[in-house]
Amino acid sequence: MRVLIVGAGLAGLRTAEALRDRGFDGELVLLGEEVHLPYDRPPLSKHVLRGDRPPVYLRAEGDYADLRLDLRLGTTVTGLDMADRTVTTAAGPVAFDELVVATGATPRRLPGAPGQVLRTLDDCLGLAPLLVPGAVIGVVGAGLIGCEVAASARAKDVEVHLVDVLPKPLVRVLGDQVGQRIADLHEGRGVHLHLGTGVAAATRTRLELSDGTVLDVDVVLEAMGVTPATGWLEGSGLELADGVVCDQVGQAAEGVWAVGDVARWADGLGGSFRREHWTSATEQAATVAAAILGERQPVTTPPYWWSDQYDVKLQGLGEAHSDDDVLMLEVGPKSRPLALYSRDGRLTAVVGFSAGAFVFKLKDLIVARAPVADAVALLKG
Ligand SMILES: Cc1cc2nc3c(=O)[nH]c(=O)nc-3n(C[C@H](O)[C@H](O)[C@H](O)COP(=O)(O)OP(=O)(O)OC[C@H]3O[C@@H](n4cnc5c(N)ncnc54)[C@H](O)[C@@H]3O)c2cc1C
Repeated sequence: MRVLIVGAGLAGLRTAEALRDRGFDGELVLLGEEVHLPYDRPPLSKHVLRGDRPPVYLRAEGDYADLRLDLRLGTTVTGLDMADRTVTTAAGPVAFDELVVATGATPRRLPGAPGQVLRTLDDCLGLAPLLVPGAVIGVVGAGLIGCEVAASARAKDVEVHLVDVLPKPLVRVLGDQVGQRIADLHEGRGVHLHLGTGVAAATRTRLELSDGTVLDVDVVLEAMGVTPATGWLEGSGLELADGVVCDQVGQAAEGVWAVGDVARWADGLGGSFRREHWTSATEQAATVAAAILGERQPVTTPPYWWSDQYDVKLQGLGEAHSDDDVLMLEVGPKSRPLALYSRDGRLTAVVGFSAGAFVFKLKDLIVARAPVADAVALLKG
């Protein structure tokens, strides 16, 4: 049997590793557009961007032989023929018995794409040298990547303008109160916030905002989120709806699976989700590898993400929605902010500011959708 994985990022490589760990003895082919060995993306907006540490590779070069992997880097897949069971590359069709789609996501762009984006190692290596003391950066989009780049740039004494059409950073996901804390964090470090205003026009070095402000900058970073990389699957017959539509174990069609940022999985409750978190990509890879080998076991752990901004590690567990009720607490001897999210009085998620131990304490209560009062009692106990 041949398993073909398209996309040599986190989810793709971890699927290959999980298949071998589970004793898969067939042929494994991994096709990736980038020329680099699979690497870790989170450091690209943190240590690597600041120049503090080199890129982090997901597997040491010397360990690839153990995987018995036909790894073809610099290979872009342009189509899928479900009837033929092949994908299309410039070097010709590549056949599969089982296909795993792991092509991640692509940054949204401003009209004309005047600025830079940060998704790949090459993007990071292009941006990092521009972050020199005294330089001015205009970051469009106060999501996780925009906020992290703002923090990394401030660490390099770069002047930062952070622009978002929404009134608070991350407000769409984390709501008003946590959004305000994040805004305060950045303002306290000297970031110029331009919130509730869009970009009316942009060039490589100028942003004209819809409130009339004009910002002359040395570099523009477009950090307005991503769209799943499904262009190569158009017309293939797979269902695409902001991601490859899959069941609860990542199956999109007979012998076709999807993992990571590109995948939209059923949640078992009539809904679906697409997650753009490191831990979800890893968990989905393990789930799909097991399912390919006949063991269909949906992920039951709540989603986890983290974000490093200045000396704060933001950590979220569970599925927060901006219209959830939010109870802000201060926890531990250092009074660290922690937000409890709930619906109908039942705990849905938690977000902590450098309060990891408290966040993880609530895992079972989130899974059980326990009353918020139980969470408060546990945190105080
Ligand atoms: C700068 C940055 C910082 C992040 N920080 C955090 C963090 O702090 N915490 C957190 O939880 N998450 C973070 N994330 C998110 C996390 O890294 C992603 O969720 C994770 O990388 C998703 O893995 P993936 O394999 O699905 O996609 P990717 O890692 O994007 O891998 C997909 C691969 O597929 C390749 N590909 C795409 N199309 C094709 C094609 N047609 N043919 C062949 N190959 C193709 C791409 O080139 C890419 O190498 C961050 C992401 C970025 C970009």
